[in-house]
Amino acid sequence: MTESGTARRIRIGISACLLGQRVRYDGGHKWDGSLVEALGRHFSWVPVCPEVEYGLPVPREPIRLVGDPAAPRLVSVHTGIDHTEGMRSWAAGRLAELAGESLCGFIFKSGSPSSGMRAVKVYVSGSTPVERGVGIFAAAFMARFPLLPVEEERSLQEPALRENFITRAFVYRRWQALMAGRPGFEDLEGFHRDHQQLVMSHPDGRLAILERLAANEEQLPFDQAAAAYLRALLAGIKGTVLDSPTEANRH
Ligand code: SF4
Repeated sequence: MTESGTARRIRIGISACLLGQRVRYDGGHKWDGSLVEALGRHFSWVPVCPEVEYGLPVPREPIRLVGDPAAPRLVSVHTGIDHTEGMRSWAAGRLAELAGESLCGFIFKSGSPSSGMRAVKVYVSGSTPVERGVGIFAAAFMARFPLLPVEEERSLQEPALRENFITRAFVYRRWQALMAGRPGFEDLEGFHRDHQQLVMSHPDGRLAILERLAANEEQLPFDQAAAAYLRALLAGIKGTVLDSPTEANRH
């Protein structure tokens, strides 16, 4: 997929070990050549290793999620040191920096207690984990940037999901350009016209709700309508099921 008119390469955050950086607990990396080379044609990377940037050494004692899967703790496997609050505190500062990086998405390392965005092992009791956790940094990232396209490298092995992520990142980049120009509803309608075909090419594209939002039929303040529009647009392209018909208005 190419994009004339996007002069600057799209900036995507990525778990640093996926780029081949030797930041893993065992001194290794998780270089994913096919992914990095295929997506590198479209994107420039902003690497983040939460564990090393937070201050843990390489190599280091492994850490894992323990306790309640809905609110797990980040704990060293052997010494039992609890890094949860330290990691959250570091993440707050790092996320503030990333807010200025004009990111259009993030690719997380699957399975990591820091970077995994779904189905991370949580040790509830004993030695048998349940795969229901979210890494501490990934959770903080998604809470801070709820509209940014995010995915894990494992999912991006699937060509259709990879193409879908690229599409969402390009849409987000065009959205950034729109927002940089202090837009109004007229501009939102223009943006919608430019993306109508894309919306219609996705079975769950939510054309009707997007048209209502762009035409200001909901009589919402512009910022609220714009956030609802972007949320519905990206969810429609991804094929995400919204919890309720009014959820597009949540922001
Ligand atoms: S998964 Fe995340 S925390 Fe672990 S080495 Fe990779 S970037 Fe660092």
